[in-house]
Amino acid sequence: MKKRAIITGVTGQDGSYLADLLATKDYEVYGMVRRSSTENFERINHLMGRIELVRGDLLDQMSLIRLIQTVKPHEVYNLAAQSFVPTSFEQPTLTGEFTAQGVARILEAIRLVDKKIRFYQASSSEMFGLVAETPQSETTPLRPRNPYGVAKTYGHWMTVIYREGYHMFACSGILFNHESPRRGKEFVSRRISVGVAKIKLGLEKKLTLGNLKAKRDWGFAGDYVEAMWKMLQQPKPDDYVVATGEAHTVEDFARVAFNHVGLNWKKYVETDQKLVRPTELHILCGNALKARRVLGWKPKMRFEELVYLMVDEDIKVLANG
Ligand code: NAP
Repeated sequence: MKKRAIITGVTGQDGSYLADLLATKDYEVYGMVRRSSTENFERINHLMGRIELVRGDLLDQMSLIRLIQTVKPHEVYNLAAQSFVPTSFEQPTLTGEFTAQGVARILEAIRLVDKKIRFYQASSSEMFGLVAETPQSETTPLRPRNPYGVAKTYGHWMTVIYREGYHMFACSGILFNHESPRRGKEFVSRRISVGVAKIKLGLEKKLTLGNLKAKRDWGFAGDYVEAMWKMLQQPKPDDYVVATGEAHTVEDFARVAFNHVGLNWKKYVETDQKLVRPTELHILCGNALKARRVLGWKPKMRFEELVYLMVDEDIKVLANG
């Protein structure tokens, strides 16, 4: 019998890569989408016919219960969230509704319908916030520094509570930043790759960025969704950090991206205080040894390759019109 999986957030970056992966593993994939006035399926158009789209919303408890009753999944991957840190400062309560309470709603739906369903929660390195140590591992204290990180921390601990309290197979993947040509254009990595592509093609003259000194551990989304799947195939549920273990500044990202197209970043990059977060966290760098040891997972794509991939893809898309 084929395994059935529900992916919430299937229209997002990770949802689309995870749907690609599960489709190749012969799962029946059900992607949960919320109602919107225009369809937002660019990242999953290539998967149409291979996955089924089903309606549901993290804000609506009944829709989640009904979905789980109807699909009867073996696995649920909760990737849906309000995932952009700057928006979480502007809309902290809505971020809490989606990114925190949404997790409780799905866990409750699973507990009600069938406690044997395996659950993956998309936790985040932003939970480490004002970091207590570097690199950060599964045992590093959580000290979130923005409303998004606080909401993710709630979702993370709820996942632990449902695992320990109700003996559910609930795992939390603490993922460090991961990018791809499918990354939302508002995120700094994609802001850089699109900006560099536009400058190279003569469509723009400057690229405006916020804090150039912020250091992040950047990997490739296609590698990271494999870790999510592996977590749900283990004999026991647990939490895992997923990271490359290498940190680079935003400035490094911009420099590598401009160099790749033969330009000097210093001539084009400007900074704007409006893009700096009210409370910043300066360095995130993960220790993924547990994922390597238990899951046999390690990242395949190096930092430079990731930057080149993103810039090349944006140039191709923009040049074709
Ligand atoms: P993303 O591209 O922003 O995708 C977010 C997804 O959530 C979209 O499909 C969106 O649907 C959906 N969504 C938002 N609100 C919803 C609601 N109320 N009901 C149902 N669906 C809703 O995010 P991503 O980069 O793929 O990240 C996936 C998950 O991993 C997120 O939870 C994110 O916070 C977490 N995470 C990401 C990173 C990273 O570096 N990418 C690192 C750590 C953790 P629409 O298309 O309808 O808006």
